[in-house]
Amino acid sequence: MRVLVSGGAGFLGSHLCEALIKDGHEVICVDNFGSGRRQNLRDIDSGRLTVIEGDIRKNITFPPVDRIYHLASRASPADFTDFPVRIALTNTEGTRQLLDHAVACDARMVFASTSEVYGDPEVHPQPESYNGNVNIRGPRGCYDESKRFGETLTVAYEDEYDLDVRTARIFNTYGTRMREDDGRVVPTFITQALRGDDLTVYGDGTQTRSFCYVSDTIAGLRALMEQDGLQGTVVNVGCENEISIQTLAEKILHICDTTSGIRYEPKPADDPTRRKPDLTKATRILDWQPTVGLEEGLQRTIAYFQGGARNAIPSPEH
Ligand code: NAD
Ligand code: UDP
Repeated sequence: MRVLVSGGAGFLGSHLCEALIKDGHEVICVDNFGSGRRQNLRDIDSGRLTVIEGDIRKNITFPPVDRIYHLASRASPADFTDFPVRIALTNTEGTRQLLDHAVACDARMVFASTSEVYGDPEVHPQPESYNGNVNIRGPRGCYDESKRFGETLTVAYEDEYDLDVRTARIFNTYGTRMREDDGRVVPTFITQALRGDDLTVYGDGTQTRSFCYVSDTIAGLRALMEQDGLQGTVVNVGCENEISIQTLAEKILHICDTTSGIRYEPKPADDPTRRKPDLTKATRILDWQPTVGLEEGLQRTIAYFQGGARNAIPSPEH
């Protein structure tokens, strides 16, 4: 099959491109290299990979394809302050461009939404039926609300054009090929630990997240795309192993066997207090569940960073 991956040079996108190519598909990656990197694609068989450098907010002429994975969007909260307009428009105008293309070539599409649509949740764990608690004017609004509107657009295109589009609400995913300076918690803590710097825990570290290893998230996205009869479906993709940020820091310090300590810094506004997916629907409809435990995933990620993340050593995932 011919598959278009927007954001294919990013963390998740490059793993997805690699997995698709390994399975014999032809992949077209479109990326503006804002937060993605060419070196993420370096080790992928170039014979079946075409890279289009372009911005999905603009009018790009995409080739006809059978499948579209729409992953383009900066995702690190560290970027929400510097790029709010670009992020908001990527998830709205950019999503429109890809939906239009899906209609034009009758392609099936998966939209990468996020657990951020639940905001700072009052329901725990979060099922797909929960409508969320997002501060529309807060510092995360550019991302959270644009993903929410992106989802609304997918529903509108399904209703008006009978488009087969599915939505994954992805929860915190980590792994190889994250950038050292990405700003998200796992690469930040690992980089700090390996340098012997103190780990910067925001707030008192009691806030929780549930971390999923990259290969599991990619398998979930692919299952969502390929199962028949899921037109219009929205589903959580993530891991149920909820952990506090304090415990995560201690775990990384332990695995890295470092002399680093922990430094407490102010918690950013609207930083969600608790987050954990309800995976009942995912396990039922996707015949999928995460398989890589946190300890193992952290060890693989730490080994990647120890090997020189900047050199993008081949990852063992696919
Ligand atoms: P990433 O920043 O590594 O990848 C995003 C990619 O999109 C980058 O290569 C970037 O250059 C590209 N991009 C951004 N805006 C673009 C534009 N306007 N035009 C073309 N390319 C553009 O982030 P990631 O973690 O790989 O996230 C991928 C997708 O998954 C995002 O849509 C994100 O919202 C979603 N997601 C990720 C997580 C996670 O934990 N990794 C969680 C929830 C949702
Ligand atoms: N965090 C932290 N120190 C850091 C980076 C993040 O304590 O250097 C915390 C952040 O406040 C949040 C959690 O780790 O509570 C996860 O942050 P991340 O940016 O990875 O993703 P989020 O789930 O907030 O989108």
